[in-house]
Amino acid sequence: MWIGAGTSVAANPRDAGTGTLTRSLMSIDLHTHTTASDGRLTPQELVGAAHAAGVQLLSITDHDVVDAYAGLIPPHGLSLVPGIEFSTWHGRHGIHVVGLNVTLDSDAMHTALAAQRDARNERAARIAARLHKQGFADALAGAARHAGGALLGRPHFAAWLVAIGACRDAEQAFRKYLGRGGGPIDTWPALAIVIGWIRAAGGDAVLAHPAKYGLTRQRLDRLAGAFAAAGGQALEVVSGMQAPDLTRDLAALAARHGLAASAGSDFHQPGQPWAQLGRVAALPAGCAPVWERW
Ligand code: MN
Ligand code: MN
Ligand code: MN
Repeated sequence: MWIGAGTSVAANPRDAGTGTLTRSLMSIDLHTHTTASDGRLTPQELVGAAHAAGVQLLSITDHDVVDAYAGLIPPHGLSLVPGIEFSTWHGRHGIHVVGLNVTLDSDAMHTALAAQRDARNERAARIAARLHKQGFADALAGAARHAGGALLGRPHFAAWLVAIGACRDAEQAFRKYLGRGGGPIDTWPALAIVIGWIRAAGGDAVLAHPAKYGLTRQRLDRLAGAFAAAGGQALEVVSGMQAPDLTRDLAALAARHGLAASAGSDFHQPGQPWAQLGRVAALPAGCAPVWERW
């Protein structure tokens, strides 16, 4: 179920079942963030900016929250697909799974949101405890002041460390205090659990930004295989402004594992050249667009 209609893409007939026309005419961005998680634009600003950028089909996929959708009214001509980006854990890697076309008000989503809130709070407490050992008192309260009511994430701790003068910038804060080196902090659920939540909420599970995990080809292939075997339905073949040969590789990876294809900018804030709102390349021919399943 899409929110809002306008000259709704949902109501448009497909191009003789091939999807070619739809794919070439439609501007799509199925991975974006707002102030409900770690983005800079409010949800209403984001849908306005997306519409201005020509996006016709948009999903807001904040980290582990769907607060952006409360009372949000998309502009005429923009269809909004309910979405979320879940943090999960697979092997030794933090993996992100985007859930698209989920039913926000469902038992599965309520369960998922509560579990992720607990996991995120636990993780924040662990980060604060670690910082405490390193001589920083009150990190939890400090980070909360930079979160503006959003769930606490590492960027908020980084902002606080910069604000108190402990670090030059967020990058240094991550390197020195918020990385993996200081011991395990992640408490995210396994891939299969998250995929199960998304499917139970009627959505499609998408393996997010596959090239961003620093995996070798072979490991990425194994991840995609495990994702598909666990019920995952699609792969983000286009993530932001990536190189065309990477797009081709990811299209082949999706095809190899029988996964549909998604596309999104992973927009967080204006001015990030690699993630501009709505600047999402068309999927290569042969991909099965995930939105054609809806
Ligand atoms: Mn983020
Ligand atoms: Mn992500
Ligand atoms: Mn993201």
